[in-house]
Amino acid sequence: MNIILLGPQGSGKGTQARLLQEKYGFNYFESGAYLRRMGEKYPEVKKIMDSGQLVPDKEFTSYLASYLDSEHMYDGVIFDGFPRTVDQYLFLKNWLNDKHVKMDLVFVIEISESETIRRLSGRRMDPKTNKIYNLITEKLPEDVDEKSLIQRDDDKEEAIKKRLEIYNTRTKDLVQAVGNDSKVIKIDGERPVLEIHNEISSIIDNFKNE
Ligand code: AMP
Repeated sequence: MNIILLGPQGSGKGTQARLLQEKYGFNYFESGAYLRRMGEKYPEVKKIMDSGQLVPDKEFTSYLASYLDSEHMYDGVIFDGFPRTVDQYLFLKNWLNDKHVKMDLVFVIEISESETIRRLSGRRMDPKTNKIYNLITEKLPEDVDEKSLIQRDDDKEEAIKKRLEIYNTRTKDLVQAVGNDSKVIKIDGERPVLEIHNEISSIIDNFKNE
């Protein structure tokens, strides 16, 4: 089965994806991490990301198809951060059709704008590993030195606001398009991580038993 996790930045999609990956053994496709790796090779991609804009669909999907193919990522996948537009969704839907699988469940993790800004302002990245930590919502592992972490340009307040604006305008249409083909479930993201995880897990279990 395939799952899409939608939600504004800081809604906890990544955390939930990793918990689901551990529990069910899903593959995990995180578009932001994937594009950050692309950005190391292509400065024009990094520049767009640093400004808080979306990487244009044409560039993004042309790199993506060969990547997903090479990783055999088409069944048992959690998609996080992708699709973000109706066109990206149509691309993914066609691609999955070709592989004779479909998108099964779509979770929309909802949090308020003020909570998004609060959570993201604590986000830091280890420039060596590209791993993301959050000084506000989690405790740093003991072997990680806070001073070695950096704040990504796209986690600064101006960029966060721009990303939220883009998210809000695009998500409405996206949810409508996805909802024609798959079950869409809204999740209250302002609760403890495990409570959210348990709710999502029970929906997945029910779906599997249907
Ligand atoms: P994220 O880590 O998901 O917040 O993504 C970081 C940045 O990567 C975004 O601000 C965009 O510039 C870019 N990005 C991630 N996913 C996509 C996507 N599906 N389409 C276009 N750009 C994306």
